[in-house]
Amino acid sequence: MSGSEALYQQIILDHSKARHGEGELVDAHASHHELNPTCGDQVTVRVRLDPARERIEEVAWEGDGCSISMASTSVMTDLVRGERTDRALELADAFRTMLRSKGEGEPDEELLGDGIAFHGVSRYIMRVKCAMLPWVALEASVREARLPAVE
Ligand code: ZN
Repeated sequence: MSGSEALYQQIILDHSKARHGEGELVDAHASHHELNPTCGDQVTVRVRLDPARERIEEVAWEGDGCSISMASTSVMTDLVRGERTDRALELADAFRTMLRSKGEGEPDEELLGDGIAFHGVSRYIMRVKCAMLPWVALEASVREARLPAVE
């Protein structure tokens, strides 16, 4: 195992225990539940945007599953909290691209931050869905929350 692989495994292990952002969210603008039937992971992501609906003011989640899915959700929370919604969707795209790389190439650390810890997961088809789960839920929540409120 290379030094960076060991570091990535440590990031995943730490986040699977710390589970940043886990909890309820009052006044959420949208929420979305995602299930990964192959592994049994499930997560509900809730977002609250700023009044202009351009920025993620707060994000929180509830769920349970394997350490990869829980770590991915925790890392995602850190990455998107306070971000512009278009930036968060861009991150979700970048994360998806990385997870489809089958371990090829170098992930963009500047863009993905601790998210690059999941680069190695892309070599394991069965685990890709685990890592992608919270991002799918986030995309759906952000898109719904951005819709103008019906008066
Ligand atoms: Zn899983």
